[in-house]
Amino acid sequence: MKHVILDLDGTVYRGTESVSGVPQTIESLHDSGIQTTFLTNNATLSREEFVSKLYQMGIYAEPDEIFTSGTITARYLSAKFSSESVFAIGETAFYTALQEAGLEVTTDPEASDIVVVALDRDFDYETLSEALIALEKDQIPYFATNSDPTRPGENHPLPSTGSILGAIQVSADREPDQILGKPSKIAANIIQEKREIEPSEAIVVGDRLTTDIKFGKRMGTKTALVKSGGDRSYSKAVPDGPDYVLESLAKVEQVI
Ligand SMILES: [Mg+2]
Repeated sequence: MKHVILDLDGTVYRGTESVSGVPQTIESLHDSGIQTTFLTNNATLSREEFVSKLYQMGIYAEPDEIFTSGTITARYLSAKFSSESVFAIGETAFYTALQEAGLEVTTDPEASDIVVVALDRDFDYETLSEALIALEKDQIPYFATNSDPTRPGENHPLPSTGSILGAIQVSADREPDQILGKPSKIAANIIQEKREIEPSEAIVVGDRLTTDIKFGKRMGTKTALVKSGGDRSYSKAVPDGPDYVLESLAKVEQVI
């Protein structure tokens, strides 16, 4: 195995603490010449912010190793659309990713040519009303970074982007044309190209069947589900189940 693709939340860390043994394991992978790529559906931090978050846990990563559903969405949209105005729901890091990719971001729903939704922890009635206005336009392209219903919190699950998509769906009767983060094939293609990954020599490690494991299957890699995060189903028996179920990422060297 030459490449390990890692989920972050619930796999590398929980909240602000690394999962036990994980910093040492990542260092050991690097010492063995195995490359790492970090892939998260969390678009609320920039790549640089993830680098420093990981650094504080004793994990060394380069910005080029980090992909968020926000950076993937920005890359995809900038390749597909050039001069359109994007009405975006999300947080600062997501807006910055879109702008850095050369996209024009508008806060005026009437002036928008594309709608894109990421997690916005300040999402409110006014934002929902604006989304409804933007989506009144027939056939306006509509994308989302991810559709996770929840994300891990300190003690309880917290709402994620899927909850916002649900509110929009009820109001506007539209579902996104495409989800661009995990588990999309689009994300797999972008990462495979940028990181020069040969899927047969890679493994995806994550804590969710519906995002991480599904993503690995689509990319054509081996997959390992870890028990350190939010998904309690832990099953290899379900259709499209993982190749391995591990207590945590700290055990990954046993299967690569
Ligand atoms: Mg996770």
